[in-house]
Amino acid sequence: MSAQVTQILVPAAVREYIDHTNFAGGELAAQFSNKDDDLLVVTMMETAANYRARPRLSRDYRALSDVAVGEVAGQWLTNVPAGTHLSHWQLMHRPGTAITYDGFTAMVPNVRAPRGRALLLITHERDMPEDWRDAGVPEYAGWHLSEDEVTPLSVAFEPDEVGIGQLDPQWPVAALQQMHVGVVGVGSIGGVVADALAAYGVGTMDLIDPDRFLWHNQVRHVLGPESVGLLKVDALADRITHTWPDTQVRPYPVNVVSSAHHMRALFPRYDVVVCAADGIAARRVVSHLARRAQVPAVLACVLDDGAVGEVIRLRPGGRYGCLLCQRAALMAGGGLDLEAHQEVGYGTGDPHRPMTAVGPDLWFIGHLAAKAAVATVLEQQYGDLAHRLPGEHAVVGLRPSADTLHAPFDVTTTMDVRWSELPPPREGCPTCDPR
Ligand SMILES: [Zn+2]
Repeated sequence: MSAQVTQILVPAAVREYIDHTNFAGGELAAQFSNKDDDLLVVTMMETAANYRARPRLSRDYRALSDVAVGEVAGQWLTNVPAGTHLSHWQLMHRPGTAITYDGFTAMVPNVRAPRGRALLLITHERDMPEDWRDAGVPEYAGWHLSEDEVTPLSVAFEPDEVGIGQLDPQWPVAALQQMHVGVVGVGSIGGVVADALAAYGVGTMDLIDPDRFLWHNQVRHVLGPESVGLLKVDALADRITHTWPDTQVRPYPVNVVSSAHHMRALFPRYDVVVCAADGIAARRVVSHLARRAQVPAVLACVLDDGAVGEVIRLRPGGRYGCLLCQRAALMAGGGLDLEAHQEVGYGTGDPHRPMTAVGPDLWFIGHLAAKAAVATVLEQQYGDLAHRLPGEHAVVGLRPSADTLHAPFDVTTTMDVRWSELPPPREGCPTCDPR
């Protein structure tokens, strides 16, 4: 075994066995994850006299699923004497230090002699004082044995639980697992919104977008070359299902504008809708349908060729107007109609106005939008005041241009986030005040 080995990965089945066995120990073998790597994965353990089990890792761990290089012999021991792992902890905190082989065997009896080759050892110290545990002394420890000296190795066990439930109760996982979110538009911003919502623990997510993922999308999207040619909603649903299995994803490859009748039935099921579609028409439809369904919506986009980002929260009720009410108030106040640029911009096939925002700037806005959506539901439905937002409309400086835009788009520095309120509904607004 190379002296370079510093870490051992252990399948959950091995720990499960050692946790419950009455045996004091047995043989063990590990293999390298890759011929050029220094990472060992345990691939065999003796679970009864002369019975060798072959624990397996899930195929999901692709980099670890084909371990078959250079078997290293070893041993596992349980119920090692108290204090063994305190020594491990102390040695780990002093890199380069070792304990003599004789000193180690005086502390831990029943250790096999290396007999001229290096050996791997995994020990389990069952009854450890609570304050040692709290200080970080490990219940399981790894060792590298030679005839001269013993050095500590770090051991990583495959956990029993890998899902979002691990964050409970520090994060309101149960509330988020109940949440149903619609994401309209899964381009550069919406793809990140969907990823982030799943990582927040949202239980059910509908992805609505008719487009396929093509080469020109790659430079700004979370999807990669493996997805070229697929519907964006399908490719993202696959990606999220694989990475975040606690989220149910339902792909809808439809256009929110031309399928507004279909959307009208979906919207009332949502706790919140996030719109990250390029077109002004899609944003207007989402604003209208969400208001009619009495569901909050969060709209995200970048404006002025990526100079500023915008996140708008539209909430039902009489206090704040819809997207059109807000745009009308901006126009009346002399503000630029930035969306007019968007109408002929990216996504319409117009080659003269390519979208110039860079991927991470779009993702930054997508993360803000996902955060705003989750916070809105946690505050409104669960009364969690830790999730209040400072306002309804955020303008974010990404690379603000020298010629200052009209308020509230007049941020002058990058990463400045300016929050403001929305105007009240206009009288006679077809969305807010239909007669
Ligand atoms: Zn309105």
